[in-house]
Amino acid sequence: MVFGAASFVLGLIVGSFLNVVIHRVPYGTFFSAGRRSHCPHCDVAIAWYDNLPLISWLVLCGKGRCCGQKISARYPAVEVLTGIAFFLIALRHESSLFSGASIDSTRAAWSLFDFWLVGSLIAASAIDIQHRILPDVINFIGIGVGFVAALVVPEAHAGGWLASTAELQPSGLALLNASLGCVLGAGSLYLVGVLGKVVYRTEAMGLGDVKFMAFTGAFIGPDGVLTALLVACVVGAVVGLISTIRTGDPLIPFGPFLAIGVLVGRFWRDDMGRILTEEWPRWVQGSRWGLPVMGGMSLLSLGALFLLRRRRRRRDHDESNFPPAADGQADS
Ligand SMILES: [Zn+2]
Repeated sequence: MVFGAASFVLGLIVGSFLNVVIHRVPYGTFFSAGRRSHCPHCDVAIAWYDNLPLISWLVLCGKGRCCGQKISARYPAVEVLTGIAFFLIALRHESSLFSGASIDSTRAAWSLFDFWLVGSLIAASAIDIQHRILPDVINFIGIGVGFVAALVVPEAHAGGWLASTAELQPSGLALLNASLGCVLGAGSLYLVGVLGKVVYRTEAMGLGDVKFMAFTGAFIGPDGVLTALLVACVVGAVVGLISTIRTGDPLIPFGPFLAIGVLVGRFWRDDMGRILTEEWPRWVQGSRWGLPVMGGMSLLSLGALFLLRRRRRRRDHDESNFPPAADGQADS
């Protein structure tokens, strides 16, 4: 319980830091804007006791002490989301983390790398929702951390397709798995982009998505990448369809769906593999609904490709018509 609670609090603190990342990185002012946080409305420096994760937002009832303007609910939302995510990661590793009174250092490092991956996914998704970009700095640092993780915790890459086909040392397997995940992640999204270009004769995919999958692929390997792409396309197509019907606007950022897919690829890869290769084929053969559902899912995948195209075109449109906003206007 203490360990879980500590992870949740750590998540709140990291989430508070992620808010700074989300707020500053798209404008390239992460370091130049100074260490202190400022009110986005009146630019007054925020005191430390008004800048506590979640607590300050609750105490201040979501309004700034300086000027009384509303503080975006995004701040506590990102903090609580990160807190819950860290709590769940801690729960997952808890059983093998403590051996008696001592802590298993490999498992501890493994938890930290999972914290890093999930924190990056949350920041990248929030930035993609707000700005329609997946920033290079998260992607490139992520690729580096992903390979370090493969070196330090090769256990995270155990199992999967590569382990069953090649006789390798754990460290070699982990490095190869990370490299293949990196290349397959970037390559497959690049291919979707090229395909979209041929089919629709317009730019279909941003390079941000390609680099994002290179980063996450280094963490989850080729099996994870395939799982992630499948989940991202299906969930993205369903949500995109609903949002199109509700708002008439098929514009959705694809990053958050890739992030959901990466989560499944990281934490439920084996379950997904079992469902896709064993339970799903058995169900399709044994049920009269098998073929219609397969057809529906093919249509959904085509729909996902269409949504990708729309997203890219709208983004170009936005960039050509509106100059980038100055720092501090992110929430207006
Ligand atoms: Zn203010």
